[in-house]
Amino acid sequence: MTRPVLKLKRVQDTNIEKGSTVLVRVDYNVPLKDGKVSDDTRIRETEKTIKYLIDKKARIVLIAHLGRPKGKVDPKYSLEPLRSYVENIMGAKTYFCSDCVGDVAREAKSRLGDGEILLCENLRFHPEEEKNDESFAKQLADGCNYFVQDAFGAIHRAHSSTSAITKYLPSSIGFLLQKELEYLDKIVTSPQRPFVAIIGGAKVSDKIDVLLSLLDSVDVLIIGGAMAYTFLKAQDVNTGKSLVEDDKVEEAKKIILKAFKNNVELLLPADHIVVKEIKEDAKTETTQSMAVPDDYIGVDIGERSIAIFGEKILMAKTIFWNGPMGIFEMPPFSNGTFSIAKKVAEATKNGAISVIGGGDTINALKKSGVKPEEISHCSTGGGASLEFVEGKLLPGLEALSKSN
Ligand code: AMP
Repeated sequence: MTRPVLKLKRVQDTNIEKGSTVLVRVDYNVPLKDGKVSDDTRIRETEKTIKYLIDKKARIVLIAHLGRPKGKVDPKYSLEPLRSYVENIMGAKTYFCSDCVGDVAREAKSRLGDGEILLCENLRFHPEEEKNDESFAKQLADGCNYFVQDAFGAIHRAHSSTSAITKYLPSSIGFLLQKELEYLDKIVTSPQRPFVAIIGGAKVSDKIDVLLSLLDSVDVLIIGGAMAYTFLKAQDVNTGKSLVEDDKVEEAKKIILKAFKNNVELLLPADHIVVKEIKEDAKTETTQSMAVPDDYIGVDIGERSIAIFGEKILMAKTIFWNGPMGIFEMPPFSNGTFSIAKKVAEATKNGAISVIGGGDTINALKKSGVKPEEISHCSTGGGASLEFVEGKLLPGLEALSKSN
């Protein structure tokens, strides 16, 4: 597959003068509960870019979205509780502005001092944002001299703050986006072999395209999670009451055929943890084969699968993982996913390059006790990393490239 050549300018290649105002698109779509951020990883990930701009004595205006307020003001999705986190992490005076455009934003931007930060209210309180509206982008750019894109998690969307904005300001990419692209590009264009991809999660339908494109580059494709049952059904293996997407069985057959033609080793679970009912205190049993007996639901991979998958993972020089191996949110069904997380960390320690994407997978990794530092790169964008690996031209990157 030929990939588009992108012309992207890095923030460090832009001559940002002292006192200039820099608009930075960040991905602060963090979990919030009772005004508290339960996981501030996404804020910390932007530290390098923001501290770089603070060092340059720039005035920093942060724009971001939170949740899905659907173009209406909804206090539940306000970014205001994040202000103190940004201030603590960046170690710079941080103000909050109750709107990202209009008089109030213009006024707040003009009052900013050198090295100070202004965090603006949720972009998605305005319906124009998701419509990639040009006049909204122009308003965002108002009073700013430069635009820095650092929101990898939003780059696969053509929104005003990811696409149209690049028409109104000299635009570059921040350090987080650079790191994301560096690792994903390595995976896609020059993976060291053996290259092992592990794909799991609930739905085959979400991941058909990525599976098809991975088959052009991987040596081993491991499929786990609920997705595996659609593939087992495609081979006439009994799946009991497990989650199967009947309308995707034909697609699964095509993927199996492509793996065969491309000489890719396709691995499905050799055994399963099964229950009669999905509940925390359900009595679990392990199957003796790939088949799930009638009346049972597959909820995790079994020990034999862990051993087979683990052996391949430990031999890998490149690993891409997206999607859990079972319903890891429930402790009795988490062993498969947690064991795979540990194997990926071990392979990384032995020299493999590992890239993990998807909110659920990173969540599972943390719960397994593996630290993000034990993985080469934990992508902040689940959807964006999948689309990048699929070979799609991400709208935010296309816009940045065109603007240069
Ligand atoms: P995805 O968003 O497609 O990566 O799917 C993640 C979800 O898949 C998680 O919430 C898991 O609980 C779920 N999942 C993984 N394995 C199974 C399974 N065997 N049955 C039902 N759900 C599963």
